[in-house]
Amino acid sequence: MYYSREYQQEDTIITINGERIGDGNPHFIMGPCAVESYDQTSIVAEKMAQQGVRLLRGGAFKPRTSPYDFQGLGVEGLQILSRVAREQGMAVITEILSVDQLDEALPYVDVVQIGSRNMHHFPLLKALGKTNKPILLKRGLSATIEEFKLAAEYILAEGNKNVILCERGIRTYETATRNTLDISAVPILKQETHLPVIVDVTHSAGRKDILTAMAKAALAVGADGVMAEVHPNPAKALSDSKQQMNLYEFDCFMDAIRKVIR
Ligand code: PEP
Ligand code: MN
Repeated sequence: MYYSREYQQEDTIITINGERIGDGNPHFIMGPCAVESYDQTSIVAEKMAQQGVRLLRGGAFKPRTSPYDFQGLGVEGLQILSRVAREQGMAVITEILSVDQLDEALPYVDVVQIGSRNMHHFPLLKALGKTNKPILLKRGLSATIEEFKLAAEYILAEGNKNVILCERGIRTYETATRNTLDISAVPILKQETHLPVIVDVTHSAGRKDILTAMAKAALAVGADGVMAEVHPNPAKALSDSKQQMNLYEFDCFMDAIRKVIR
């Protein structure tokens, strides 16, 4: 398998906007759940820039559980993201949901996110495998580690070797969190693959009071970085309003993490 340590012993390092993901240092991917407006996105990005975070996430095509919920701004959202990223010197990480969105979306995107619900979307994985864009592949809601690795293999086998794995919690019987962060997946993936591993604390927790602790745990077990969501006014957010940090909480989060990684 292309993902395996047998195929490649040394860690894959993927350089995005000067950040070398997989180099042993922690990297941070932050931003709103969804792009809602230029102001909303740029307020978050400005705060991120103050904290030295240079990888901007934000959804323009949103895979919502209900078809009646906000579905994202589409291409207009991508335009906002890329404008804000340019202004703040950041790279854009955003989800693409289907093969037919690729042509219009790719020019705006530095890293393509494949969301949890699409981890098994093999035609999308194959199509992205034919590009040279870095891919952030999220673990499926109910995918085993083996299935997760094989989803990555779909991309690698087509020739795109720039795959970042993202553990984002799995579905269990536990209801105290939205998903259960499978912390053991991190060292297992680091052992069995050479790919960088990021932990998304926001979508695993589904609540924001434990994000700092989860991020510390992720880095302690060897994650190459952390993803989390930030919104200027989470209570008014059009998606994931319960779990996005506000700007003050984001500052506290980054300050607390920096203390343990120094
Ligand atoms: C997201 O990161 O915007 C998202 C929808 O996450 P997931 O696919 O992990 O649910
Ligand atoms: Mn979200």
